[in-house]
Amino acid sequence: MTPTEITATRKLADGRQMPVMGFGTYLLNDQPTMNTAIQTAWDAGYRMLDTAMLYRNEDILGPAIQQLGLPREGLFLTSKVAEIVQGYDQTMKAVEGSLKRLQTDYLDLLLIHWPVREHFFDTWRALEQLKADGQVKSIGVSNYTIAHLELLATKAKEMPVVNQVEYHPYLNQQALADYDQEHDIVTEAWSPLGRRVVLDDPMLAKMAAHHNKSVAQVILRWELQHQLVTIPKSTHPERIQENANIFDFSLDIDEMTMIDLLNKNERTGNEPEIVYETGKQY
Ligand code: NAP
Repeated sequence: MTPTEITATRKLADGRQMPVMGFGTYLLNDQPTMNTAIQTAWDAGYRMLDTAMLYRNEDILGPAIQQLGLPREGLFLTSKVAEIVQGYDQTMKAVEGSLKRLQTDYLDLLLIHWPVREHFFDTWRALEQLKADGQVKSIGVSNYTIAHLELLATKAKEMPVVNQVEYHPYLNQQALADYDQEHDIVTEAWSPLGRRVVLDDPMLAKMAAHHNKSVAQVILRWELQHQLVTIPKSTHPERIQENANIFDFSLDIDEMTMIDLLNKNERTGNEPEIVYETGKQY
């Protein structure tokens, strides 16, 4: 069923609830911009905030939440373990740093940012331990392919409940999203607007005009109707509100198919297999 409001949640395989829509914070790197964005997002109804060690903004997101007086229990905070700190001990230590910078004693969701062959099982073991210790409520992965998930299943005590991957009309990763769904893993779309590349698509422009919506709104709605969780980012208050305003219209089955057919397998970000082999983004 497609959610009817921004505060709707999706049930995870571990029994917890995750908001269907969140706010991405990549490239939000100064305190005033972060504060304005987070206040606008909160007022617009976003309850999930997505950060990562790599974004180097945990230390301004934490203070923003404090300064704005947002209730910790009303927020769903996600962070991610960077490639450079993977391995059991390093991950345990790195997450301590994230919690300190975010000024909280738990994360709602911790993801392995990218799979790395050298530390593949040890990093996951650290996440299982952090969950058992209560520092993290739910654990998941990011940028994992079907092969990575199958490999993880050979040794994991528990499987990820979320797989956050690049997903937009030019890269719809249908096979991976189907696999996730069959295995009770929620697919979360990063760069859900394709970092703007998709926004100039002429077919989407026509569809948006038909609904009296923007192209960004049509794309985010398509993701929601595919049962994905989506986390658009913007620094502009009016766009933050616009992106949240997608619960008052719907795409019919033909429109969904037309957007599905725009797929070009075109990435804006790294190829997971290369990061897996080298342990580095390029
Ligand atoms: P995105 O959300 O697809 O696109 C962001 C870009 O679109 C920004 O340039 C923004 O510009 C613009 N924009 C946003 N809303 C718009 C609207 N309504 N109309 C026109 N332009 C609009 O890209 P993203 O930031 O890369 O991805 C979203 C989040 O996913 C990130 O912030 C991060 O939290 C997460 N992420 C995760 C990974 C991973 O490996 N797990 C990788 C990348 C991103 P303005 O800011 O100027 O408004």
